[in-house]
Amino acid sequence: MLDRDNELNAFDRDHFFHPSTHMGTHARGETPTRVITGGKGATIVDRNGRESLDAFAGLYCVNVGYGRTEIADAIAEQAHKLPYYHAYVGHGSEPSIQLAKMIIDRAPEHMSRVYFGLSGSDANETNIKLIWYYNNVLGRPEKKKIISRWRGYHGSGIMTGSMTGLALFHNQFDLPRAPVLHTEAPYYFRRPNRDQSEEEFSTWCAEKLEEMILAEGPDTVAAFIGEPLLGTGGIVPPPAGYWEKIQAVLEKYDILLVADEVVTGFGRLGTMFGSGHYGIKPDLITIAKGLTSAYLPLSGTIVSDKVWKVLVEGSDKLGAIGHGWTYSAHPLCAAAGVANLKLIDDLGLIDNVNEVGTYFRANLTDALGSHAHVGEVRGDGMLAAVEFVEDRDDRVFFDPARKVGPQIAAALAERGVIGRAMPEGDILGFAPPLCLTREEADIVVTRAKEAVEAVVATL
Ligand code: PLP
Repeated sequence: MLDRDNELNAFDRDHFFHPSTHMGTHARGETPTRVITGGKGATIVDRNGRESLDAFAGLYCVNVGYGRTEIADAIAEQAHKLPYYHAYVGHGSEPSIQLAKMIIDRAPEHMSRVYFGLSGSDANETNIKLIWYYNNVLGRPEKKKIISRWRGYHGSGIMTGSMTGLALFHNQFDLPRAPVLHTEAPYYFRRPNRDQSEEEFSTWCAEKLEEMILAEGPDTVAAFIGEPLLGTGGIVPPPAGYWEKIQAVLEKYDILLVADEVVTGFGRLGTMFGSGHYGIKPDLITIAKGLTSAYLPLSGTIVSDKVWKVLVEGSDKLGAIGHGWTYSAHPLCAAAGVANLKLIDDLGLIDNVNEVGTYFRANLTDALGSHAHVGEVRGDGMLAAVEFVEDRDDRVFFDPARKVGPQIAAALAERGVIGRAMPEGDILGFAPPLCLTREEADIVVTRAKEAVEAVVATL
């Protein structure tokens, strides 16, 4: 085992270009590497037989948990029958059609069609192209700018990386590219004016958005994109009144709304979609992760009736839409999606989010909410975050160079639980599989408390 491990480690460091990884320290063997070989429920196991409770569900995507034979069998069955056929020029496969129907049945009422991609990033690229096409069909060639939020995460392509509002994903990549603009993050804990109530802060966010639209010229702004609950930017639920106020501004200037539900779709907030959860009426919805629980890669753009009508008008004037991926609506991925959505229903996972997610967040708050170095414990559904501060009363943040958040995440991993150090700020994030049990929630909370105490003792 040891020899094989050493060999694999050498292959890994010499040949594998990992995403979101420090290239130098990894290649030189200065940082640990871990090869995961199996999993069941919320638990994963590595090559050395070491188990961990994965309280981030991979990258908030293995929503039904690991080891679901129903999905593996559905993929195998489809692979035996038909591994691939494309979806161009009206072709389809049985699972892709069935899945489209299942998604529309679960989506908000005014949604009409699903365009399938493979990743959250490519689905958001599709959104941008559809938005531009939409405004061209309507004879508004100037209406093309996209507004996203600082701390939003929408992928790491060229346009999607531009919409992402985190410096790490921009630096040295010449991003953001025009025509992407960023407005205020709906992050009440980090509000500039601490005297503001949540409602006042939401009003301020909406005013800042309106100021930006007026400064740019409303006829040049096409769309606003946001995650119903800010995810990678810190796992931050929207402040009271936020979506209502933002939507009023968008409506006033005829600006489309894209709800990026890559994380919040399919149950994570204890509802099928975050849009319904927070009273959002989007024109486009981005889906990925929870659609297949990552058993195979699949994403989608759900298009509303309003947008669909204009797209149809476009093809009646211009011919077939010139947009497609070889793997759009891939039959194996669609089969995984069908089996996954059935499992979410059959296992009652949305009810479990409401029950165990609520229990988990309440216990996390009890355990850490009044700690001298915890500024806030927050979350919704099966999403939670603990934000660490140097001084709680004056809301003084730690110097990022001290890497307090990453140290705590590492201390937690040593204790057999995986959380995630979110990329901006000292924030420990949790997004466990939706099947988390109360006993597992207790383990996460107990270990998190121990990890925090261990790191704080060294500060
Ligand atoms: N949108 C949101 C809200 C995400 O959280 C992510 C990934 O975490 C993406 C888009 C990009 O998805 P992918 O990594 O599949 O390209």
